[in-house]
Amino acid sequence: MPQEIRVRAEIVEEMLRIARSEPRIECCGLLAGVGGVISKIFPAKNALASPTAYDVAPQELFQLFRRMREEGLEHLGIYHSHPSSENVPSPRDIELAAYPNEAYFIISLLPAAPRPVRAFSIRDGHVQELEIVIANA
Ligand SMILES: [Zn+2]
Repeated sequence: MPQEIRVRAEIVEEMLRIARSEPRIECCGLLAGVGGVISKIFPAKNALASPTAYDVAPQELFQLFRRMREEGLEHLGIYHSHPSSENVPSPRDIELAAYPNEAYFIISLLPAAPRPVRAFSIRDGHVQELEIVIANA
């Protein structure tokens, strides 16, 4: 039975909108919510400004996590885009995955991508796809 991640529909739409607004580099950010349902998106700057990699500057990451705490939210996921490849974790994504208990959302901008938004668990080098369940407000 696949694990699932629950997310509000508008968050999925927002991830797609942000990814499409920056088609030349990977976009990235944090996802948070309450009760296991992602309801808030914290866009971040891709410090690498790269089409094939992303990173968030430590200072910005610190500020985003502080805002999350101040708003009483739990960290539930992170997202980034793959402007010109399939939305499965890259070897680099797997190697650098730092959040074993959070969902990794990946957005593909390929026009032919059957599912433009997918989510994965990445733990100790092992990748498992998560079922994205749209939660109502
Ligand atoms: Zn990636």
